[in-house]
Amino acid sequence: MPATKKILIVGGGFTGLTAALRLSADKNFAITLVESSSQLGGLAAGFPVGGTSLEKTYHHLFLTDTEILKLVEELGLQEKLIWRGSSVGIFRDGKIHPFKTPLDLLRFAPCSFSGRLRTGLAALYLKHKKNWRGLTRQTAHDWMTRACGRSAMATIWTPLLKGKFDRHFQNVSMAWFWARIHTRANSRSGGGGEKLGYFRGGFNVVTTALENEIRQRGVKILTGATVEKISGDHTAAINGETVPFDFCLFTGPSPAFAKLLPAQESLNDYVAKLRSIEYLGAVCLVFTSDQNLGDFYWININEPDAPFLVFIQHTNFIGKENYGGKNVYYVGAYLAPDGKVFSLPDDELAKLWFDYLKKMFPAFDAAKISERHIFRFRAAQHIVDTSYEEKIPDYKTPLPGVFLSNFSQIFPEDRGTNFAVREGEKIAALIRQENAG
Ligand SMILES: Cc1cc2nc3c(=O)[nH]c(=O)nc-3n(C[C@H](O)[C@H](O)[C@H](O)COP(=O)(O)OP(=O)(O)OC[C@H]3O[C@@H](n4cnc5c(N)ncnc54)[C@H](O)[C@@H]3O)c2cc1C
Repeated sequence: MPATKKILIVGGGFTGLTAALRLSADKNFAITLVESSSQLGGLAAGFPVGGTSLEKTYHHLFLTDTEILKLVEELGLQEKLIWRGSSVGIFRDGKIHPFKTPLDLLRFAPCSFSGRLRTGLAALYLKHKKNWRGLTRQTAHDWMTRACGRSAMATIWTPLLKGKFDRHFQNVSMAWFWARIHTRANSRSGGGGEKLGYFRGGFNVVTTALENEIRQRGVKILTGATVEKISGDHTAAINGETVPFDFCLFTGPSPAFAKLLPAQESLNDYVAKLRSIEYLGAVCLVFTSDQNLGDFYWININEPDAPFLVFIQHTNFIGKENYGGKNVYYVGAYLAPDGKVFSLPDDELAKLWFDYLKKMFPAFDAAKISERHIFRFRAAQHIVDTSYEEKIPDYKTPLPGVFLSNFSQIFPEDRGTNFAVREGEKIAALIRQENAG
C-alpha cells in the first residue's frame, strides 16, 4: 500500500474545487482545501436573494463552455441548467440601441454607416478565423481601428475596452479580443441568436454539488482560513499554524502567490513573472425592486462619461418568479483596486451610479429599491497586454511540490468558470503525474 500523500489546495473557487474533485479520486491522497472567505465559489460565489442564491458578480454560460457542461452532466445537474436567447443593448447618445443581430448593427445610428459595415465584416472574419497566434503582439485597439474605422471605435469598441481594462485599454492583445468575439459569435444555436445558460438556483448549485462530492470523498474543507506562507520545506502557514504537505496547489491571484513564497534566489525569475501581471478589481452593485426598467437583459454603457460598464436586468433572463417576484439588477465596473471609486463608501458609490441610472431611465426611482448590496473583488481581471504570453507563469514552480493554477494562465480566452474547470482538471492530472514519478 503506497504511503498517503498530503495535498494542500489553496482556494475554493471553481479551479480549486475541480482540482479537489479529480485528485480525490485517488485514495492515497489526503486533501485539505483552504479558502480564506467564509464561503466557497470564489468570484462565482453567491448570496441569498428572494429565497435563492444569486452570484455577487453577474454570471452566465455560453454554448461553447464544453468543459463545465461536461462537469455539470457528471454531477447530474443538467436539469438545473436553462438556455435562453439573450437580449443585448448599447446605451449611447442618451438612448438604448438593440445590439444583438446583424440587423441591429446595421441600424446602430451612433456609428457611421461605413463603420457599421466594417464592424460586421470584422466580426464575421474573427468568427471564422481559427489561428489567433499572429494576433498576440498586436493591440486590439490598433487592429480594430484599422478594421472598423474611427467612428466604430468611438461608439462601439473603445468604450468596451475601456470598461473592461480601464487605463490599459490601448495595450490589450488582439488575441484576447479575437477569443471574445470568436466565443460569442459561436455561442449561437443553429440559425437562432446567441444562447446563454444559467442555473436554476444560481452557480451555487455547482459549487454545492462539488463541495458535497469532495467532502464525501474525505476532502477536509477549511473556510475562513488563510494560507499566509508557503515554504521550501513542504510546509505552509495556515492562520498561524504550520502544516506539512507533499503537494501544494495555489489557485488565487498571481501577485498574491508571490507574497507567500520565500525570498530565495532560485525563485527570483518565477516571482518576477508573478509580479508582472497586473489586475483590476470589480465592483458590482446588486439591487432588487418592484420597478421594471425595460426588456433588455444586458446593456453595455458606451457613453464617454459613463461611471460603469454594464447594467444587467438579470430577471429579464431568468424570470422574477425565481426571486420572490422582485426584479433583480446588477450595475458593474472594473476599476483599479487602489483608485478612488473602488473604495468609495457604499452610499456614495450607490448615489453616483443611481444618478447615472436616472439619466438612462428617467422613471427610475431609487426609493422603490427593496435590497441593495455592493460587492468588491480586488483581483478580478488581469491585463492581457501584447507581451502577455511571456508573463504567463508555469504551473510547476521552482519550489518542490508547489504548483500554481489560476486564471492568469488562461490565454487567449477570457477567464471564466468553464476555463477554471479545464485548468482544475489539467493541474490535477499534472500533480498525479508528478506523484507517479
Ligand atoms: C464581474 C465578473 C463577471 C464574470 N462573469 C462570468 C460569466 O458570466 N461566466 C463565467 O463563466 N465566468 C465569469 N466570470 C469569471 C469567473 O467568475 C472566474 O473565471 C472563476 O470563478 C475563477 O475561478 P478560480 O477558482 O480560478 O478563481 P477564484 O474564483 O478567484 O478563486 C480563488 C480563491 O482563492 C482564494 N484565496 C486566494 N488566496 C488565498 C489564500 N492565501 N488562502 C486561502 N484562500 C485564498 C480566494 O478567496 C478565492 O475564493 C466573471 C468574473 C467577474 C469578476
